Amino acid sequence: MTSKPRKPGRLFFANPGPTNIPDSILRAMDVPTVDFMSEDFIDIYDQGVAGLKRLLFTTGEVFIYTSSGHGAWEATIQNLFSPGDTILMPECGYFSRTWGAMAKRFGLNTEMPETDWRRGPDPATITERLLADKSHQIKAVCIVHNETSTGVALDLPAIRAAIDAAKHPALFLVDTISSFASLEFRMEDWGIDAVVGGSQKGLMLPAGLAFTAVSEKALEAHKSATLTRFYFDWTKMMARRHRSFVGTVPVPPFYGLVESVRLLESEGIENVWRRHHRLAEATRRAVSIWSGNQGVAFFCSDPKRRSDSVTAVKMPEGHDAEAVRKIAYDRFNVSLGGGLDPLGGQVFRIGHMGDLNEPMILGTLSIVELSLRLAGVPHANGGVNAAIDYLAAA
Ligand SMILES: *Cc1c(COP(=O)(O)O)cnc(C)c1O
Repeated sequence: MTSKPRKPGRLFFANPGPTNIPDSILRAMDVPTVDFMSEDFIDIYDQGVAGLKRLLFTTGEVFIYTSSGHGAWEATIQNLFSPGDTILMPECGYFSRTWGAMAKRFGLNTEMPETDWRRGPDPATITERLLADKSHQIKAVCIVHNETSTGVALDLPAIRAAIDAAKHPALFLVDTISSFASLEFRMEDWGIDAVVGGSQKGLMLPAGLAFTAVSEKALEAHKSATLTRFYFDWTKMMARRHRSFVGTVPVPPFYGLVESVRLLESEGIENVWRRHHRLAEATRRAVSIWSGNQGVAFFCSDPKRRSDSVTAVKMPEGHDAEAVRKIAYDRFNVSLGGGLDPLGGQVFRIGHMGDLNEPMILGTLSIVELSLRLAGVPHANGGVNAAIDYLAAA
C-alpha cells in the first residue's frame, strides 16, 4: 500500500455543492439517538421547519425527505401529475435536462425546448408557447432557478410575469437547490407553486435532506394526481405528526438545520444574499481579467444572468479544464467543480455559495490563477488583484 503525502493546511472546498459545513453545524449534529416521536425532538423538528418556511418566504406546507435533491425532484413529479400530463421544461443545462429526463421516465409528456445553454430561455418564448396552448394541456412550467452546470441564474419574477401574460393556469415549479439561501428567493411574492430544495448547498448541511414547499394551488393539484408513489406520498405524510416523511425521521440533520437557520438569520438573509453577490462579483472581476490574451472566459454569455452562487469558466479551444482542476487539487488542496456531462473538460466551476468569506474566495482565486499558469492555459495575469480592488471599494 502506498500512502499519499499529507496535504498540510485546510482543504479549500470551492465546488458548487456540496458546500463547506460550519463548525457549529457539525457540532450541533453530534447528538445521540433520540426517539423521533419524542416531544424533545419534535420541538427541534418544528423549529427547523418553521425556519425553512421563513427563509423560503412561504407559509405553506413543506414536505421533507431523506434524500438528495434528486429525491425531491422525483417526489414533486409523482405528487403533482398524472401519466400523460404535459409539462414545459426549457432545457438550458445539465440539471434541467436531467429533471426533464426524469419526468419523461415517469410517463409525462415533457416538452423541453432547447435553449442556448450560455444564457437560458427568453421568458417571451414561454408566453408564446402558453398562448398557443388554448386548451390548457400544459400543467406546469418547470424552471431551474440557478443552473449549477452553466452558472446561469434566471429571473423568476420575469418568468412568473411571462406565465401571467398568457393568462395560463399552469403551475410554476422551481428548482432552487443551488440558489436557496444564496440568491434572493421569495416563494409567495413570486407566485411559485412548488419549490424543490436540498440541504447541501446554501443551507451548509451535509447531503441527505431535500424538500418541496408547496402552494395551496399545488396541494389542490396533488389531490387529483395519479402517478404511482409510495415513499414520497404527500397525502401519507400529511397524516403523520411531522407532516413529512414516510418511515424513520433522520434526527441529527434537524439539529443541524436549526443551527443553519440560526446562522443565516443572525447574519440576516438579505445580508446573506448581499454577501453572495459581493463574493461572486469579486470572482467575476478576476475572470474578466483572465479572459484577456484570448484566455478562459465566462460560460454565461449574458452578464445580467451570471450567478451569484457559482461561476462556470470556459476553457480556450484545445485546453482541458480537468488539467487545471487536477493541479489545484493535487498540489494546492483546492477543490473546484468540473464540467457536467456535455461540458466535461470544457469548463471548471468555482462555487461561491454557503459558508464563505473574503479570504476563502481570494485563496481560491489565487490558486485558480496559479493553476492556469502552471497548466499553460492562456489568460491575462492580475485577476486576483482585480478581485482585491473590487473588495476594497465595495
Ligand atoms: C445539486 C443540484 C441538484 C441535484 O441535487 P442532488 O442533491 O445532487 O441530488 C439539482 N438541481 C440543481 C440546480 C443542483 O444544483
